Amino acid sequence: MCTSPLSIAKLAHNMFLEGNLGDPGLFPGSARLEREAIVSLAELLHGPTGTTGFIVSGGTEANLMAMYAARNAAHVDSPEVVVPESAHFSFDKVCDMLNLKIVTVPLDADFRVNPGAVRQVVTKRTVAIVGNAGSAELGAVDPIEALSKIAVEHGVPLHVDAAFGGLVLPFLKELGYSAPEFDFGLAGVQSVTVDPHKMGFSTIPAGGILFRKSQGLQCIKTQTPYLTEETQCTFVGTRPAASAAASWAVFESLGREGFRKTVKRCMELTTLLYEGLEEEGFEVLLRPQMNIVAFRNANPRLLADKLNKSGWRVSFVPRLNCVRVVVMPHLKRQHISDFLETLRT
Ligand code: PLP
Repeated sequence: MCTSPLSIAKLAHNMFLEGNLGDPGLFPGSARLEREAIVSLAELLHGPTGTTGFIVSGGTEANLMAMYAARNAAHVDSPEVVVPESAHFSFDKVCDMLNLKIVTVPLDADFRVNPGAVRQVVTKRTVAIVGNAGSAELGAVDPIEALSKIAVEHGVPLHVDAAFGGLVLPFLKELGYSAPEFDFGLAGVQSVTVDPHKMGFSTIPAGGILFRKSQGLQCIKTQTPYLTEETQCTFVGTRPAASAAASWAVFESLGREGFRKTVKRCMELTTLLYEGLEEEGFEVLLRPQMNIVAFRNANPRLLADKLNKSGWRVSFVPRLNCVRVVVMPHLKRQHISDFLETLRT
């Protein structure tokens, strides 16, 4: 799910190698770039004034921070998190670390969580509901609007994991694709994960975590006795300014138009791949909602092995028994036709 960073991202990264966002008073320029990168992400995701956040190491840390804040804000005994069956495996780690019980909710035929089933398992112990805006395996988008309503009704924060989709979905509608609402425009959404090191052409490590309200961070503040700021909200102490600067540089240089063009290309190639696979008689699990395609034949594990041996780096997803291709921006039309040709032979 990563791609070659833009040249300007590499340049910015190298200019900020010594920058430490963990001690912002010493690196005010770096801190400003991080803040501005967060503002760009917040604007894209309809964050209201006051939306705040951090450039972190990736989606895992972003999800960790969201769950940490939700747990601490709730102050309940035996806290639980309601997640779709398709939630990223980072939630297994995060919930283990935070001693949160995971309540898993099944999916419908389109691999989206069933809101009715979510409603049934929300209790007084629920500290957060999680929805995917682009599942890692299929790019499936949960019905975030319905989840948001449930979250509001129960006074529980909805966290949206848009680690991958957060830099795809906002452009789909503008390109004429149907794309559901998934961001801070929905009242129940309190935090969003969106990673510049995935569809954002940034350098690794660059995850993003946004919170609707800065008050949401009070409960994860730690005193930092010897640093330039008295408190810190991030989990990680010393943090790289380099990849935050790289993310900032990409937003400044590409702008909305640049991202839109990239997403357009990725979606056109995705459609080409999807149609080609259908023509060849493969079962495509889900009509792609973003630039991820998953398919199978009678023996997808063997197929994935064969493809990998012949140089195509595809993943096999055991849970869904399928081969998965992420159509990242470095792919070209020729790759898609060569790939389909390999499948034919
Ligand atoms: N969430 C989703 C939806 C993802 O697709 C991924 C990674 O692919 C993650 C979280 C974890 O992100 P990272 O590997 O950057 O920690």
